[in-house]
Amino acid sequence: MNRKKGISSKRVKTFWGVLLSLCVAFTFMPAALPSSANAVSASNAAAALYKADGKTVVRYYSSLKSAIKGLSNNNRIIKVLNKDVTLTGGITVNRDYKYTIDLNGHSVTGSSTSALLDITAGTVGIANGTITNTGGGSTVAENGGSAVLPEDYSGSISSSSLSHIPQAHFVNLTAEGNGSQTLNGSSWTSGSRFIRTGSSLHLTFTPSDTSVYEVAGLTVNGADKGKITSYTIADSSRTRDYSVSVKYDYISFNVQAVTMMGSSANTICGTIDPAGTTAVRKGESRTITISAKDGYQLDDVVVDGVSQGAVTSYTFSNVNEDHTISAYYEKTALFIMLDPGHFKNYNKGAVSGYYEGNQMWKLGNYLESALKEYPGIIVGKTKSSLMTYESGVYARGLKAKGYDLFVSLHSNSSDVSSVDYPLAIVSANAPMYTEARGVGVKLAKVVKSTMNTKQDYQIWIKRQSDGRDWYGVIRGAAEYDVPAVIVEHSFHSNRTAAKWLMSDANLQKMADNEAAAIADYYGLSKDGTVAAPKKPTGFRLTVRSSSKIKISWTKSLGATGYQIYRKDSSGNYTKIATTSSSSYTDSGLVSKTTYTYKIRAYRTNGSAKTTSSCASARSATTK
Ligand SMILES: [Zn+2]
Repeated sequence: MNRKKGISSKRVKTFWGVLLSLCVAFTFMPAALPSSANAVSASNAAAALYKADGKTVVRYYSSLKSAIKGLSNNNRIIKVLNKDVTLTGGITVNRDYKYTIDLNGHSVTGSSTSALLDITAGTVGIANGTITNTGGGSTVAENGGSAVLPEDYSGSISSSSLSHIPQAHFVNLTAEGNGSQTLNGSSWTSGSRFIRTGSSLHLTFTPSDTSVYEVAGLTVNGADKGKITSYTIADSSRTRDYSVSVKYDYISFNVQAVTMMGSSANTICGTIDPAGTTAVRKGESRTITISAKDGYQLDDVVVDGVSQGAVTSYTFSNVNEDHTISAYYEKTALFIMLDPGHFKNYNKGAVSGYYEGNQMWKLGNYLESALKEYPGIIVGKTKSSLMTYESGVYARGLKAKGYDLFVSLHSNSSDVSSVDYPLAIVSANAPMYTEARGVGVKLAKVVKSTMNTKQDYQIWIKRQSDGRDWYGVIRGAAEYDVPAVIVEHSFHSNRTAAKWLMSDANLQKMADNEAAAIADYYGLSKDGTVAAPKKPTGFRLTVRSSSKIKISWTKSLGATGYQIYRKDSSGNYTKIATTSSSSYTDSGLVSKTTYTYKIRAYRTNGSAKTTSSCASARSATTK
């Protein structure tokens, strides 16, 4: 709404008066008119209702009043077609739509003590004619609805550029804060204006004091246009309404703070606070704090492209431009996700009181504690209590995200009570298979020797028809390339095995031995020493563009992560990244330049750290 109640009759008359002289250029097709005088009432003119394209006639009406009544949609145009209109009283304009009354160069005259057009609902554009009320009332009154004037109407009309408005499209403005706007050169505070065909819709936004305020945000039809001070709507066909929203605020700059994986994309290595892009008012300060999650340490903090070392906080003072801050992390632990079986009182065994669900939950807790005795191991569990129902197996597998290994604990069942052997079911597919099998064999051997089972251990893989793992927990873990092992602690259908698994002391012993087997596989020991990992193999470079080279390799057994070095101009190698992934893309390079890289694996156990020898250096030239 651009006017409060009661438009002054004088202003509206002046406006229409100017419009009247310009309407000769209007190309309405009179051939479509009913030519018979019978079609027009004595005291009124015929009117027609048009669709938004300004061409399609919806219906003819015998009067302006009935055309308004006939409205049933937005963006319609009512044209008073063939003669001036004399109203015997005022018309209540009460249709709750958005439309234009285009007087088509004619006049509306009436004698009323109240408004000739009393707008009680809807948004009504009125154009191209004069309206005169000789009865003392106003010409148009806004009594619940609103009247909309052309974009360049500013009270007194002297411009000769006004022409007819063939379509009922509007541009609506919302402005907030300290600033002012213009629309095609005219001041525009708020509310709706017409959009005129053929004219460029040019908006300007001026903060009230440009040393203090700025355009903080501009949206056009909901689309963010950023901190710009002028905007031109290119669509000259004007087939839609426009909504413009501008906000002025204190001048501010963006500080963009991100944690860089530096390791796997599936992990969150730490926190940076406040994270993401935040606004800082000009001249003010912003302190960013950085911390590492358990199992990671801060490797470097890079501010506006410059390394600051592993600082845990950084302050941007007297902010006068945009800034970026990135935290890089180094992985320092082996992450193991334990899945302690099914649920409470699930799967009775051959011995009274044995339930697979209960005993494997117990074993899981013992194993968690046993693994935590190794300073380089971090343990997660798929559930935090012995639940009374089976939680989804695939969902449990997905909890392997960010972990290095997934181990699911079970006891097996058979119709043949003499069956007594451990079984490890391992991830079937690369790149998980080798590691899953390596751990699986170790665990199966440990179960065999600890329980002293009758038959030897077995290792299985099982796939669905689509090639993915058949078992849900393994399939879930594979979504994140995490090797997974289901360990069947022999068969609870076997009396001897079930009885053995009933003993807490036995479960404790099993947990200790399993933890030792896993730690041994990854070269970790309880005293914090750590064996060096093997150097990475399959080291190769792929030139991606004029500024990017992708470095990839095959993971080394038990490596916590990899350090990537690049030769600088003086021939020294500088570490450019640490990652637990099997590839890294070096970006921001100079085109047609040769770069040389080395890579080595490292392994940590608590504070101890060993590195492999470097894979032979390789070179590549950017495009
Ligand atoms: Zn089971």
